[in-house]
Amino acid sequence: MSLMHTLPLLSVLTKYVLFIPDATRLLSKQSIQKLLNKATKHKGAILVSPLSRNKELECYRMNVSIREWSLKYNMVKSSYCDAINGKHVILSETECLRNLSNPFLLPFPTSLYIQTSILNIKVFIVNSGYFHEGKTILKTHHAQWKFKHIVQDRLKSLYNLFKIKLVMREGRTEWYGCNRETPKCFEEVLDSTPSYLYENKWTPPCCLANLRKTAKYVLDILDQFGIRYWLEAGSLLGAVRSGDILPWDHNVDIGFINDDSNRCKWLQIAQNRSIVDDKGFFWEKVKTGNLFRVYFSKYNKIFINLFPFFRKNNTMSRDLYHDSRRNMEFADNYLHPMSSIEFVGRNVPCPNNVRNFLEFKFGKGCIENPEYPDPKKLFSKYNNIHTNIKY
Ligand code: ZN
Repeated sequence: MSLMHTLPLLSVLTKYVLFIPDATRLLSKQSIQKLLNKATKHKGAILVSPLSRNKELECYRMNVSIREWSLKYNMVKSSYCDAINGKHVILSETECLRNLSNPFLLPFPTSLYIQTSILNIKVFIVNSGYFHEGKTILKTHHAQWKFKHIVQDRLKSLYNLFKIKLVMREGRTEWYGCNRETPKCFEEVLDSTPSYLYENKWTPPCCLANLRKTAKYVLDILDQFGIRYWLEAGSLLGAVRSGDILPWDHNVDIGFINDDSNRCKWLQIAQNRSIVDDKGFFWEKVKTGNLFRVYFSKYNKIFINLFPFFRKNNTMSRDLYHDSRRNMEFADNYLHPMSSIEFVGRNVPCPNNVRNFLEFKFGKGCIENPEYPDPKKLFSKYNNIHTNIKY
């Protein structure tokens, strides 16, 4: 196959390209010329025209957030926006198409509008009445059903290609990321630095949502069995900042009194062997770090860390230290009395004097200027990534 065939845009020698749906009828020979005349008044924009005067097109503002792996559509009462819904023709300057990575990608024109909105190319509706809808080519229910499924499969591939995990449209959410039966969306975390941080992205929204579900479940279990626990490290920092998991975090950290572990049957079992509990969560003891982990499932291994602490000479300590500051020992008066803080939609126990506690673990000013897990590593590898995060 020649390059001409793989890149059809190379064969286009005209200034404009007109895309028309199957079976479209032109009202008159001058229809295209009239649309072209309008195009000269809207340089740099894409012109669209409905296939019927009676059918209004839906105009959407689109927000593609690469960092948050998401796509948001908001309908607007305007003729000027980022994406169109409804049957329509599209007139685009060929030059505009040349700036896109794949202008003819299916499903069209969804793929076109995602790419143009990233480049801030606007769409302008012209209610011309120049074009009409012809007879449908999908006559049977079966053909229409089949086509609908083909489009859905193409949408999945498209979002996969563009690394979009969450689509929000008029209050509806569509997920294209991981679930309980699939692995989480990022690989094993090495040196506390998940791979998405190297791409200057935050935690995929599906993974965050699953982490929240697991956290709520684990907090319920700890309450149910009367375990004395508190929010730790990055999770406590997230709670102080926004009442939630930090948007770039990949797990949740909870400390608990080691003496209480026998009260919880799942912790008791996990002392000796890993187990899937009756709600499908996977419990295991990490021997090397002397901690427990609760995973969303056996396949989707997004997890909650449960760090056992011992009280020794007015100090809360762990019998095996990680190399990380977040697991270091601390004075036990931070837990007398225990305080509480909002986290993942509920009130969760936490150390008192939270600011001092966090600054002891992460350094002065960590609440206002939190850092990614290991900023030096990210900075030396990819110099363009700013590792001090400002909202
Ligand atoms: Zn995910």
